Amino acid sequence: MDLFEYQARDLFQASGVPVLPGLVASTPEEAFAAATKLGAELVVVKAQVKTGGRGKAGGVRLARTPEEAAAHASAILGMDIKGHLVRRVLIAAGADIAEEYYFSLLLDRTTGGYLAMCSKQGGVEIEKLAVEQPEALAKLTIDPLVGLDHPAARELAKRAGFTAEEAGPIADVLVKLGEVYRDQDATLVEVNPLVKTTDGKIIALDGKVTLDGNAAFRHPEWAQYADDAAEDPLELRAREKGLNYVKLDGSVGVIGNGAGLVMSTLDVVAGAGADLPSQPRPANFLDIGGGASAQVMANGLEIILSDTDVRSVFVNVFGGITACSEVAKGIIDALAILGDRATKPIVVRLDGNAVEIGRHMLTEAAHPLVELVDTMDAAARRAAELAAAAE
Ligand code: GDP
Ligand code: MN
Repeated sequence: MDLFEYQARDLFQASGVPVLPGLVASTPEEAFAAATKLGAELVVVKAQVKTGGRGKAGGVRLARTPEEAAAHASAILGMDIKGHLVRRVLIAAGADIAEEYYFSLLLDRTTGGYLAMCSKQGGVEIEKLAVEQPEALAKLTIDPLVGLDHPAARELAKRAGFTAEEAGPIADVLVKLGEVYRDQDATLVEVNPLVKTTDGKIIALDGKVTLDGNAAFRHPEWAQYADDAAEDPLELRAREKGLNYVKLDGSVGVIGNGAGLVMSTLDVVAGAGADLPSQPRPANFLDIGGGASAQVMANGLEIILSDTDVRSVFVNVFGGITACSEVAKGIIDALAILGDRATKPIVVRLDGNAVEIGRHMLTEAAHPLVELVDTMDAAARRAAELAAAAE
C-alpha cells in the first residue's frame, strides 16, 4: 500500500526525521488558510498523488503569499498527473535548497535483505540516474536483523561521495528513516530529494512510503490510509469487471492466462525491453484466468487499450481450459467493439489447446493491428520493439 506524501511526512515527523511544517488542503480557500497559518516567507504547493514526477508535471509550485498559494492550489487541484486526479495539495513551508540528494531503503528479495541507496545527485529521476551514471548511486545491502544502523548509514553516505564531515549529519537522518522503515513495516522508504538547505540543515523534502500489506494485522491504524478515490481508475474499472489487473508504469500492455504465465511474461517483456535504448517495460499485469471467455478477453483488451501509457500490447496465452479459439474470438470481438478506438499494435502468441484453430481465425481476420508470433521470447521482443518505435 502506497502512502501520499503528506502521510509519509507525518510518519517522518513522528519519528524525528527533519521535515518542514505542512498542512493539507482540498480547496483554494483551505490553501489560503494553510499558507496564512504557516506564515512562512515561501511556501510550496504540492499535488498529492501516488505517483512521481509531480514537479515535471507542474504539480509543485512555489508561492510567496497566501493569495499566490491559493492561485497555485486552484491550478493544481483537479489536475491529471499520469492518470491520477489531484484531490488534495500539501502546503508546506519552502526550503532554501543548497543541494538535493537521494535516499531509499527497500526490500530486496534477491538478497533476502534490505537495500539502501544514496546519491549526491537527487531531485532527478533516479531510474535515469541508475542507467546513465550508475556509479553516482551508492548501494549497500542491509541485514534486516541489524537494520540501517549508524555505521551502515555512514558507510552508505561515504560510498555516495560525502566527506566524513558531511556524512555524520546525513547518517543521523538516514538512521531515523531506517526506523520509520522498520517500525512501520514498510517495503520502501524513499526520499527524493533529501536536501541540504543554505543554512546547512538536512531535510526530507519529499517522501514515498510503501507499507507491507502482509503486516496490516498488526497496524489497525492503517485503516486511515484506505483510499478508494485515489486508486487507479483503470484498476477500479478492471475490478468492476472482475479482472485481475494491476497497473504498472511501462508502455507494453500485457494479457495472459494464469498468474504464473503473466508473471513470467512481465519478466520476458522487461528483459526484451532492456536491450532497447528507450527500455520499454510492462504497462500492467492482467490475468484473464483459466477458462476465460471471449467476453473476458474483450474486457481485458478494452481496459489495456484505454491506458494512455500503452504503446503496444502482448497477448500471451497458453490454451489449457481456455481454448486458443476462444481467445482468438475474444481478440476479434474486442477489436470489433472498440472499432476506431483500437489504435495500438497487438502481438499475439498462442499455444496449447486448439492453437491451430486460434491462429487460423486470427490469420483469416487479418486485422491490421494484430501480429501473430510463434514463441514467447520472439513475441515479447516484437512487442517491446513496437512500443519503442511508438515512443
Ligand atoms: P516529485 O517531482 O513528485 O518527486 O516532487 P518533489 O517533492 O520531489 O518536488 C520536485 C522538486 O521541486 C524538488 O526536487 C525541488 O527541486 C522542488 N521543490 C520541492 N519543494 C521545494 C522547496 O521547498 N523549495 C524549493 N526551492 N524547491 C522545492
Ligand atoms: Mn520527489
